[in-house]
Formats: sequence, C-alpha cells, structure tokens
Amino acid sequence: METIASDIAGRLRRIGTRIATAARAAGRDPAGITLVAVSKTHGADRVSAALAAGQRIFGENRVQEAAAKFAAIMAAEPGVRLHLIGPIQSNKAREAVRVASVIESLDRPKLLRALADAVQREGRSPGLLVQVNVGAEPQKAGVGRDEADAFIAACRAEFGRSVLGVMAIPPADHDPTPHFAWLAACARRNGLAVVSMGMSADFEIAIAEGASHIRVGHAIFGDRPPPR
Ligand SMILES: *Cc1c(COP(=O)(O)O)cnc(C)c1O
Repeated sequence: METIASDIAGRLRRIGTRIATAARAAGRDPAGITLVAVSKTHGADRVSAALAAGQRIFGENRVQEAAAKFAAIMAAEPGVRLHLIGPIQSNKAREAVRVASVIESLDRPKLLRALADAVQREGRSPGLLVQVNVGAEPQKAGVGRDEADAFIAACRAEFGRSVLGVMAIPPADHDPTPHFAWLAACARRNGLAVVSMGMSADFEIAIAEGASHIRVGHAIFGDRPPPR
C-alpha cells in the first residue's frame, strides 16, 4: 500500500511538471489545463492514493463501475468531480446524470434525447462534451467531423450552457497532431471553452494543440489489470 500510494503521488507530481513544461513551451498558462485522472478498472485504494496526493478530478468509462467506486468517496470528499468518458447506453442515462460532473461522451442523437429526459427527471444537469470521431473509425464512438457543428447546435438547443465543449480520441498509431488541431478549431468555431484531448502517450502534443482537459490513465495509476 505504502509503495502504491507513493508511486501514484510521484507520478502525479511528474505529470504536473510535464503539463507545466508543455504549457509554457506553447506559450500557455499551465493553470489553463485540467488533469482528469482516469481510474477505470483500478480499485478505490488507488483513487484514495491520488486523492491523498491532491487530485480531485477523475475519469471513468463505465457508469456502474463509476457509481459503485465513487459513492463513498464523493460522500466523504465533496470536492471530487467525476467525468464519464466512455460510451453510455441510453438506459444508463439517468444513472450517468446522477453521478457525473461532466459527461464527455455525448456522441449521438439518441443519447441526447435520453440525457434530456434524465436531466428533467433528476433535476440535475452535468456539463456535457460532444464526442467527435475525428478519425472516422468504425469501432469508435462520436459524431463525424461533418456532423459536429450541427450536433453541437442541437445539444445547445436542448441543454444550453451545460454544453461545455468537445472531446476526441484520435486513431492509435497515427500522428495525433492534425486530429488535435481539428478538434481545437472545432471548439473555437463553436465558441466552446473545453477541449478534452490527449492521454498518457500524447498529452504534451494535445497541450501544444490547445487541450483544456487531458485524460491520463496508466501514466498515473500504472498498468490496468487485465479484464476478468
Ligand atoms: C482509458 C482512457 C483514457 C486514458 O488512457 P491512458 O492511455 O491510460 O492514459 C483516456 N480517455 C479515454 C476515453 C479512455 O477510455
């Protein structure tokens, strides 16, 4: 336990330094970049270690895993914020609205309608990011590049200021730079402040291209346990 906790604290410190260095190299204020610590598949012990090291914003892929893992943590630490970053089934929309500060994966009209209904019923309105499938990959979620502006407009018509920005996961094994640049331009064109892009392997490039939020998993928490 001791070593896991100090490993995580050390990794968070080093990532903080790398964020600051990348921001300054890009002429940006490091305070303009928010680190979302992606704790999916890791246990509450690792989340607690990150909390003890000062991390407050976490990302999870699955609604139920997130709710189960974070219920007690959020009751004890009201400052903790949970971002949902994975695909959300429509029938999980209410639970997602209940637990999330931000839903980063608003990726289709059907989910828009389910979330609108859930926001009504729950009386709670998380921040929302539109996910764009920047590489047009069939296995990946997100609206197409060509559909992004219209879908953002539809989301704003429904949710107003809760629509904060855009999110993407560029294709693996490609240079992410042009994808990041496209996403940042999409946010600017639509007057949106949040640009969620960049993971463990490429967050410095994302910062250079204008990320406001980076989602970092294994560089903080270590390798994910294999799925059971
Ligand atoms: C798992 C995941 C991450 C973090 O990935 P790492 O490579 O471990 O940093 C970021 N974003 C999304 C959407 C993810 O599913």
